Amino acid sequence: MSEFHAYRNLKLCSKDCLCLFVCPTGATNNETGQIDFSKCIGCGACAMSCPSRAITMLPNAMPDPQIKSKEMVDKLFEISKNKINEIEILKYLLAKSNSNELRLIKALIYSNKIILEDLMRESDFMLPQGKKSLLLLSKISNNNDLKEITDKLLKSFK
Ligand code: SF4
Ligand code: SF4
Repeated sequence: MSEFHAYRNLKLCSKDCLCLFVCPTGATNNETGQIDFSKCIGCGACAMSCPSRAITMLPNAMPDPQIKSKEMVDKLFEISKNKINEIEILKYLLAKSNSNELRLIKALIYSNKIILEDLMRESDFMLPQGKKSLLLLSKISNNNDLKEITDKLLKSFK
């Protein structure tokens, strides 16, 4: 059995074409539109033949993140917190802004969110299903206010 399985990005899939013919197990022909993981043997034929590049081969087990020093992770978290504060201030300004300022403030919020994502990735939260992210979600799920949403996320990664 391969260490990989195929995943179809439904937003890119143009439906009913090559992967349905090349898959040796019928895993691509699934009523849900997603590939049937239980039938996939990870041969990669679907990914190679997809004209829309809608199929990615994913590892069955998520790899451990690179180990970083505590100082580095602490610093990245500190910068992340600043970015979160900036986003909150920009959101406050957005609510009070006139139409000339709207686009600029929205662009600043967007760029801050991208930087924040990069910082979190660099802080070892590389994959949402990675061990460190799962541990963080489990901790947060002890908070009653956030329990419902974190439990949903944890379930979706299983
Ligand atoms: S990787 Fe192979 S077995 Fe799995 S869905 Fe694609 S073609 Fe089918
Ligand atoms: S080959 Fe690609 S575009 Fe065609 S049905 Fe399969 S996933 Fe969708």
